[in-house]
Amino acid sequence: MPCPTCHGTATAGAAMVCPECNGTGQVTQMGGRMKFNVQCPRCGGSGKVQRACPTCHGQGTVARTDSMEFRIKPGTRDGQRIRLAGKGNAGVRGGAAGDLYLIIRIEPDPIFSRTGDTIYVTVPVTITEAALGAKIDVPTIEGRTQLKIPPGTQTGQKLRLREKGVMPASAEGARGDQIVEVRIVVPKVQDERSKEILREFSRLNAEDPRRELFAEVRSEVHQ
Ligand SMILES: [Zn+2]
Ligand SMILES: [Zn+2]
Repeated sequence: MPCPTCHGTATAGAAMVCPECNGTGQVTQMGGRMKFNVQCPRCGGSGKVQRACPTCHGQGTVARTDSMEFRIKPGTRDGQRIRLAGKGNAGVRGGAAGDLYLIIRIEPDPIFSRTGDTIYVTVPVTITEAALGAKIDVPTIEGRTQLKIPPGTQTGQKLRLREKGVMPASAEGARGDQIVEVRIVVPKVQDERSKEILREFSRLNAEDPRRELFAEVRSEVHQ
């Protein structure tokens, strides 16, 4: 910012007579046996000098930390530059101030992640919700919304919520989607009744999910 003491002029007090040339603006130099009058190097020929401002030590500007508010527009991306006109360094000798560029860094979120305008979230579901299907509440960047879990959903399966992602940066832009990744949570069965129900379920649904991992089965399948 411009120095508050000298208002950017970098000088203090009234001009004094230059002590080097006594106000003449010229000094005498010897060149062999000749004398030359040359421009006084101290005052630049003006015959006057000014003391440097004690606050800014003749710089005309001082450094200051300031805080200011600015608006983050919807759709702002990580690494984006925002220009604040006239909020940069003070101009030289009271001239116009420069611009301030802000580089936006988006902090990681414990729930949501973002790629482009798509928002990703992982949502735990129970084995019954995944097997039978369910309507569950899922978080979005604007609060909760309902999501239909189709029957037979597998862990890792990704379901799309259209236009629940990042807001468009411009009026013509489309809003991004939210992708919900399903993670099936297996219950820790403690009581005998639940264990019996699961054993009964297993007898009714005799299947080997690892069948295709074994070579002899694969060759059987391909023959
Ligand atoms: Zn000053
Ligand atoms: Zn001088």
